[in-house]
Parts: sequence; C-alpha cells; structure tokens
Amino acid sequence: MKNKYVFTAVLLAMILFVGSVLTMAYVRAEQKKEQAKDEDLLVVTSFYPMYVAAENVIGDVEGVTLENLSEPQTGCLHDYQLTAADMKLLSKADVFIVNGGGIESFLSDVAESYPDLKIVQACDGIDLLESAEGTGESHNDLSSNEDADHDDHDHSEHSHGDENAHVWMNLADYQIQVQNICNGLSEADSAHAEQYAKNAQTYQGKVQELQQEAAELASQIASQPVVIFHEAYEYIVQEYGLQLAGEMNLDEERQVSAGEVADILHSIEDNHVSVVLAEELYGTDMGEMVTKQSGVKVVYLDTLTRGDYSADSYLEGMRSNIEQLKEAFQ
Ligand SMILES: [Zn+2]
Ligand SMILES: [Zn+2]
Repeated sequence: MKNKYVFTAVLLAMILFVGSVLTMAYVRAEQKKEQAKDEDLLVVTSFYPMYVAAENVIGDVEGVTLENLSEPQTGCLHDYQLTAADMKLLSKADVFIVNGGGIESFLSDVAESYPDLKIVQACDGIDLLESAEGTGESHNDLSSNEDADHDDHDHSEHSHGDENAHVWMNLADYQIQVQNICNGLSEADSAHAEQYAKNAQTYQGKVQELQQEAAELASQIASQPVVIFHEAYEYIVQEYGLQLAGEMNLDEERQVSAGEVADILHSIEDNHVSVVLAEELYGTDMGEMVTKQSGVKVVYLDTLTRGDYSADSYLEGMRSNIEQLKEAFQ
C-alpha cells in the first residue's frame, strides 16, 4: 500500500520535472526566435509599386522582412495620412523605401520623427515631368508644409507642386528606381549587396523585355493624340511618344466643373482624339459621358498602385497596358 503512494509521488515528480524542462526549452526557443526577429532587417515601402520593386530586389535574401504601409483608398498616395499602424511599423523599421518627388506628402514628418530611419528615395536621379498646368489636384512636395489640415479644403482650385512623380509608369525610369532601391538596401545591409545586385539585374532584365515591346508599339502609335484622365499617364504619353491633347485629373476627392468637361470635349474634337486613357478607380461615369458625346474609345489602364503583391504583378500590369494600348489604336 505504502509503496503505491511512493510510486505515485515519484511519478508525479517526474512528470512535473519533465514538464518544466520542456517549458524552459520552449521559452528559450521562443526567446531565440524573438531575438532573430529583432536582428532582421525591417524594410518598409510607402506604396504598392515600391513594394513590388523591393520584393524583387530582396528575393530570397535571408533575414529581411518586407512590409508595406496600409493601402490608401485612392490608389495613389494623394494626400495620404499615415495610420497609427503605419507609425508603429515605421518606428521599428530600418529602411523606408519611398517613391519621392513629393508623392509621399508625409515624408518630412517621418524623417523628423525617426531621424535614424534610412530613407531611400527611388526617384533620385530621374528627370520628373512637369505637371501640366491648370489640371487641378497635383501632389504635395517636400518643402510644402500643409498636411494635417489638408482634407478640409477644396482641391480643385490649386495644385501642390509642379512636378509629376508617377515615374514608375515609365519602363526606363522604373529600372532606375529598382537600381536606387538596390543601392539603398546594399548600403543598409552590405553583407547581401552581391545578392541584391544580382536580383536587381534579373528584374531589370525582365522590365527591359517589356520596354522592347513598348518600343515596338511606340513605332506604330507615336504622335497619336490622346486625352488622359490621370496625371500618371503623362509617363505613358512619354513612353509611346503620343501627343497629349488634353488632361483632366479625376480625383475621388473633388468635383469636376462643367467648364472643365466642356474644355475636354473641345480638346477631343479639335485634335481628332480617338482614345482617352482613364483610371477605373476614379469611376467610369466621365468615360461613359465623353464616349456618348464624342464617340472616343475610353481605355482603362492599370496605374500599378494596387494589386496582389506578387513579384510579377508589375510586369503583368504593364504587359496588360501594352496589350490594351495596342488594341485601342488599331
Ligand atoms: Zn497620383
Ligand atoms: Zn489639396
């Protein structure tokens, strides 16, 4: 009888012992994991096209975590305000990759709040197009200090800067952006510089193939007149040598005036425009209206400001733009 109790007690003690050893081992493993996470290079991108470019440059380099700021409602970062989650993410980040050129109106605040954060401006060294005059909303630029109270006013009467920074829409410029991202990552993480360079080169090669296709199409459609409904398409106009007959920036945040609509219809008529390049995110009402009024074809191109975050999504979006343009001008 007595022996039975002793046996049970010993058994219980053993179970407790094994249990605590396992618990300690588990805790240690978790601590190690946590440490590894802290040692990871945390790279944050400002929006979709920067994320996809960085994704390709990073490839399978170990010890790098890539995150994107939360997705803006308007596709582009027009007057985007950082969320609490964005701020938390940036407080832990090692590298912040932005497009630059004024698209990230919050950039000066971020630089001020996190002086140790390495900011990589992907449009460094690229000649930005001048924003077309009198087209309403444009982007903020770094030196301008309006931001927090920005949603309170009507955007139709002013523009925030005179540069158009939608350079990722031009295939040659995008390759420079990929290179700038590669250089920035290599500076922050020199141990993997060789891998970043190799990945960037591979990706740039794929973009070059598209550039070749675009050049072939350009030889067929160059100097055709177009009207555009998004500033980003000035870079499409540039890539294909099209003639910009009119521009109206449709932005969710503003009302288009009757005068603007009349102007656009006149431009279409006077320049014998047959194709309008539009952005589906801003609605199809205006497109349907101009088609009805003037018989133009409205083509909804991809501005590459959102998608499924897969590594090939930029290439796929741009290829589909080429196909759409080819069809539109046939
Ligand atoms: Zn934009
Ligand atoms: Zn504004």
